[in-house]
Amino acid sequence: MTQLRSVCVFCGSRPGMRPEYADEARALGALIAAEGWRLVYGAGDVGLMGEVARSAQGAGARTLGVIPTHLLAREQGRRDLTTLVITEDMHERKKVMFMNSDAIVVLPGGAGTLDEFFEVLTWRQIGLHRKPIYLLNTRGYWEPLVQLMDHVIGEGFAEISIRSYSSLVDSIETLSPLLRDALK
Ligand code: AMP
Repeated sequence: MTQLRSVCVFCGSRPGMRPEYADEARALGALIAAEGWRLVYGAGDVGLMGEVARSAQGAGARTLGVIPTHLLAREQGRRDLTTLVITEDMHERKKVMFMNSDAIVVLPGGAGTLDEFFEVLTWRQIGLHRKPIYLLNTRGYWEPLVQLMDHVIGEGFAEISIRSYSSLVDSIETLSPLLRDALK
């Protein structure tokens, strides 16, 4: 029996200013479904989260959504996922998402997305995992983040190795063979 592979997607609870963000979120959902992977995400039906989930689910992907009780209303938590886990708090949410994933893809997003990215990055930094982390650089969205990490390294506050813990990818086309390889 082949093992179910799961892709955790961190992304904005808003759609952002440009249609390309939602386009890429839908393309990622479609890719996850086409490859037979499971989507692990924050269970909301808003912003890019909603886009990726509707697309994945609509194309037949299995889905695991993880949401804390207090965000069920605000993020329009979906009850029609393959599995819905309702957690007590944000920390538990991130832990459940992470534990149930084989790779992480970060789409454009806000402070919540940054928090989620840095959590898995710092877990990697201290040797807690080796799961691949991809930053989907739609329209160069994450370039300032990469510059910030370079600045942090340049000023002596992190090892250069933190750059190797995540990969910047320009498009879903570039991401798909990398993910496929990582999830073999
Ligand atoms: P945002 O990028 O701010 O739109 O948020 C994206 C997702 O991250 C939303 O589902 C937020 O609820 C979630 N989020 C925000 N802060 C945290 C946190 N500290 N821990 C876990 N999830 C968070």
